[in-house]
Amino acid sequence: MSQPLNQNLTPEQKNICFLKGTEPPFSGKYVDFHENGMFTCVNCGQTLFSSSTKFDSGSGWPSFSDIGDQGHVKLSDDTSIGMHRTEVTCANCGAHLGHVFDDGPTPTRKRYCINSLALDFKKKE
Ligand SMILES: [Zn+2]
Repeated sequence: MSQPLNQNLTPEQKNICFLKGTEPPFSGKYVDFHENGMFTCVNCGQTLFSSSTKFDSGSGWPSFSDIGDQGHVKLSDDTSIGMHRTEVTCANCGAHLGHVFDDGPTPTRKRYCINSLALDFKKKE
C-alpha cells in the first residue's frame, strides 16, 4: 500500500493518490495548461510526464501520449468498476495517478489520462 510522503497533501489529493479517486473532469489545474517542463508525482516528487507529450484530449483530464521517464510509472490491470482498464501509478511511491487508454495520438496511440491533483509541475528553466 502506498503511503503519504508529502505531509502537505490536501484531502482531495489523498483521495486520488491513496484511495484511487478521480477528480471531476475539467476541474484540475493542469487540464488547460501549456507551460514547458516536467510533471512530477505530488506525493514523492519523481518526474513522470513531460509537457512535450501533453495533448488536448477533450476528456477534461491532463492527457499525455507517452511516459516522460521510462520506469517512473507502473502500469497494472484494474477491473475495479466492472470494466478492464490499465491503472497508472507512480513507480517510486505507488501513488495512484490515473489510467491509460489506447485511443491516443500517433505514434504511441496511448492516452495517459492523469488527475491534476496527483501531479506537481517543475517548469523548465
Ligand atoms: Zn510518487
